[in-house]
Amino acid sequence: MSGYENSGFQRLEQDLQSGRLSHAVVLESRNEKQLAETVRKVSEWAVCHADDKPCHICQACIKAQSGNHPDIYTARLFGKTEVVNVEEVRTICADAYIIPNEARLKVYILPHADKMQIQAQNALLKMIEEPPQSVLFIFCCESAKKLLDTILSRVTVYSLDYTYDNDESSQQSYETALKIARHLTDTKGYSLLCALRTLSDRMTAKSVTENLTEIVGNAVRYRITGRAENDVEKLLGDTIEFSVLSEMSETLHIALDRLNSNINMNLFGTWLCSELRRKK
Ligand SMILES: [Zn+2]
Repeated sequence: MSGYENSGFQRLEQDLQSGRLSHAVVLESRNEKQLAETVRKVSEWAVCHADDKPCHICQACIKAQSGNHPDIYTARLFGKTEVVNVEEVRTICADAYIIPNEARLKVYILPHADKMQIQAQNALLKMIEEPPQSVLFIFCCESAKKLLDTILSRVTVYSLDYTYDNDESSQQSYETALKIARHLTDTKGYSLLCALRTLSDRMTAKSVTENLTEIVGNAVRYRITGRAENDVEKLLGDTIEFSVLSEMSETLHIALDRLNSNINMNLFGTWLCSELRRKK
């Protein structure tokens, strides 16, 4: 069972180590202290001069720790609700085109990004669609689900919480994936369409599709080894031909890629259903 929300912390570590961080990331956590620590670490990583980033001891890391690095900017918050407003976003967008002072990247930290007004999010959207070189945006939030879908499609989300709720939601997405997997055997495809069209939220869709990919992959393996994790994998293995299962597995990998780029979520379920049905 793969839990999209539980793996965020390790994925972030891996991406920092391999240097493969996208130009816009969302750090999601309900734990303010953990969020602040992670933001600091990612900012240090972006400005650090050492090979093994962040080293925590070079000049740049120390400046970052004390909040005095000229290439790290934390957006100002306005009003009673403490939000980053559209004027502040415009200031940031204008500044982002100026090359960094000392670091390889300029870092913009956006606190409470999930509370930003739609207008402010839209103003940012243009910037992250076609970002200047050498920029890293860090969106901090309690819940990434409150960000615009158009933003979510262009950022990498790292969910940092390891809580009961997240376990529960990843269990839920596994159950949903099992249900959808059963419908793969339906030759008319109508029940499959209904099941897939419930995946209108991008993050849920990612998590469910990840689990579905694993279930279909296991069904392929079951046809070879005779070993399955559950009845659904057996059912798929017994009723769908090997070559068709393999193609389904490929389709699901393509679906994951599309969820990570910017497929229109209104069309996702219908598209995936038509792809999977053709494989019968
Ligand atoms: Zn350093």
